[in-house]
Amino acid sequence: MDSPLRAWRDTLEDLGVMGLVREPRAPAPEDPVPQPSSPSPVRPPLARPAPRPVAAAPAAYVPPSDPIGCPAPAAVAGAASLSDLHRIIQGCLACPLGPGRMKFVFGEGDPGARILFVGEGPGRDEDVQGRPFVGKAGALLDRMIGALGMTREETYVANIVKCRPPDNRTPAPDEARACLGYLRRQIELIQPAVIVTLGATPLRELVGIGEGITRMRGQWQRVKVGGREIPVMPTYHPAYVLRQYTPDVRRAVWEDLQAAKAWADRPAEA
Ligand code: SF4
Repeated sequence: MDSPLRAWRDTLEDLGVMGLVREPRAPAPEDPVPQPSSPSPVRPPLARPAPRPVAAAPAAYVPPSDPIGCPAPAAVAGAASLSDLHRIIQGCLACPLGPGRMKFVFGEGDPGARILFVGEGPGRDEDVQGRPFVGKAGALLDRMIGALGMTREETYVANIVKCRPPDNRTPAPDEARACLGYLRRQIELIQPAVIVTLGATPLRELVGIGEGITRMRGQWQRVKVGGREIPVMPTYHPAYVLRQYTPDVRRAVWEDLQAAKAWADRPAEA
């Protein structure tokens, strides 16, 4: 499919208008949760995930000098809780995405969650509601979490950027960089046992790995935040799963989530 047609198809999908081209059927709410069609292969023992030898570190967050709407870095660093951080940064206009948002999408879930899901950025539904992952992709994420025997409220869900990029485009690198300090402070406060990155953007912007998600999914990575090295499991974004609703893609995500859950369920190290 040429790119204009692909872009138009994506726009229609974003609008919820399906059927211009033949696509795999998106799951109905009553569909069974994604499960591999055969038992999952035995994964390697969950020894401590091997660190990537060379992964370009994300560029350091450089807060803009414009004081309007930009919380002081010291205030962000000094936020004592997620609610405190939310209050401090909710008026942020530090990058071009800020003025265009309807609602600020901070993230939500258990402040002490063992599993943190990180997506790319708010879409149309999230921008309207001020909550992450509330559209079709969010419904699928909920079902995937449910398949692990958990609820979304037992995890934490956030994005690389907290304001919607126009037309649901990928956040520009400088936009992601401007927002990354907030996510990193959230991670410091939550102290998750494992982070699951959803799609290529959070893997690139948070972990510093720019290789394609098809190649990197299922391979343990690490990110250092607040002096802690946190295992990272990259997997597909739920929106991609909806577009490519094939047994192979569902099986891959299921295996990745199972691995993340198994790691999160390990007793905390002394
Ligand atoms: S995306 Fe992040 S850095 Fe940009 S305005 Fe929104 S909160 Fe601020």
